[in-house]
Amino acid sequence: MFDKFHDECGIFGIFNHEEAARYAYLGLHALQHRGQESAGICTDDGERLHVQRVMGLVAENFTEDVLQKLPGRTGIGHVRYSTAGGSHPKNAQPFQITFSMGQIAVAHNGNLVNAGVLRRQLESQGSIFQATMDTEIFVHLIARSKKPTIEERIVDACRQVQGAYSLLFLVPGKLIAVRDPFGFRPLVLGKHDGSWVLASETTALSLIDAAFVREIEPGEMVVIQGDNELQSMQALPAAPHRRQCIFEFVYFARPDSFLFGHNVNEVRKRMGEQLARESGVAADVVIPVPDSGVPAAIGYARASGIPFEMGFIRSHYIGRTFIEPTQQIRHFGVKLKLLPVRAVIEGRRVVVIDDSIVRSTTAKKIVKMLWDAGAKEVHMRVSSPPTISPCYYGIDTPTKSELIAATHSVGEIREMLNATTLAYLSLEGMIAATRADGDSFCHACFSEQYPIPFPYDCSAGSCGCSDPDVCQRSSDRTP
Ligand code: SF4
Repeated sequence: MFDKFHDECGIFGIFNHEEAARYAYLGLHALQHRGQESAGICTDDGERLHVQRVMGLVAENFTEDVLQKLPGRTGIGHVRYSTAGGSHPKNAQPFQITFSMGQIAVAHNGNLVNAGVLRRQLESQGSIFQATMDTEIFVHLIARSKKPTIEERIVDACRQVQGAYSLLFLVPGKLIAVRDPFGFRPLVLGKHDGSWVLASETTALSLIDAAFVREIEPGEMVVIQGDNELQSMQALPAAPHRRQCIFEFVYFARPDSFLFGHNVNEVRKRMGEQLARESGVAADVVIPVPDSGVPAAIGYARASGIPFEMGFIRSHYIGRTFIEPTQQIRHFGVKLKLLPVRAVIEGRRVVVIDDSIVRSTTAKKIVKMLWDAGAKEVHMRVSSPPTISPCYYGIDTPTKSELIAATHSVGEIREMLNATTLAYLSLEGMIAATRADGDSFCHACFSEQYPIPFPYDCSAGSCGCSDPDVCQRSSDRTP
């Protein structure tokens, strides 16, 4: 319905808790914004693993009956928005196999840039893949490793992959977490009633009243076993600079989360303040595109002195099962989700704030709705820089040719939107709003400065990949 980048996954784990499956359910529920296509929980009863995976939302599909099939005091869970591998029940996670050392399950947030090559190598050596997602590569590498312990085998596998990964592994008696050397995707450690908890975002800790302990560091492995014993090791050398995804601050993460050392809501407000300083305009009212544009609009209003009001009301009752409208009523489109408040808009110079413009389909409809509601002027402000390039590190993005800012100037986009003015936050302004070291972020979708170059030129066929389900990268997605 909305024209956004989509986060790919959320992960959650809890060790040695009497309600492991139910807490995993709650943790995934808090992380539902990170993926809505499938969900799964795997528990350990001390001797063997039990896994349940469903298509759709956590609350709708993890019924009492399903939770009853998940015994044990330790569990990991996953919510997924399909990208690499496509939408299919077999690609739901946690992914579980049995190999020479016993059972293992994995939940992965991120994307591997050398998945296609590794998969072909493994297949040529006899590996048989069950799914089409890149996560399965980890378990094949672990199964084939010659190292003596499961921890060493996981490190061995991680050394062979390139890309973004925050991982949770479950084997009978152990919960193991790993974060890639760049720290692309978040992963935090918490504690609840003496039990260790791991989650993509602190919002999952908050829901279950767990205390935030710290982030898992880039390249760190944490092994939890026995009587809640936690061992930490630098399993992989951390990259010279972190490359945490700055888009988590722009849109993906929940505003109540504490991410990469900062409160997301406060960073978004500062982005709005900076936007007002960079591209202020005389106006009567500042309105957000709800919900994600709200904090930045509050910041913009605060810095500009222009009153903040809710100029759109969002309906929360459009489910994913919504039936596509017929051609005759298709033009209702975004109005099913957002309705303008004429009393706020009519006869006024309106600044409308959104967090990003991807293809421009939603932005066009927003501007038209404001004109239709009687706005005198429509000033569109975006609290992030133009998105000019796709992501290869675990975010679902359109191809470069579909990104409006990759092929059009800001002036051309303004004309297409039919806005009075249009301005984006600068890259420097966005980084400054985080109040973090500017060198600690990936911002490749805004800057094309890819921390890990996508190494294979698909257009030349040099990677040998001919299966789009495996590679998912057409020639125009190659940076
Ligand atoms: Fe995040 Fe963009 Fe980097 Fe992807 S390319 S990890 S979306 S900042």
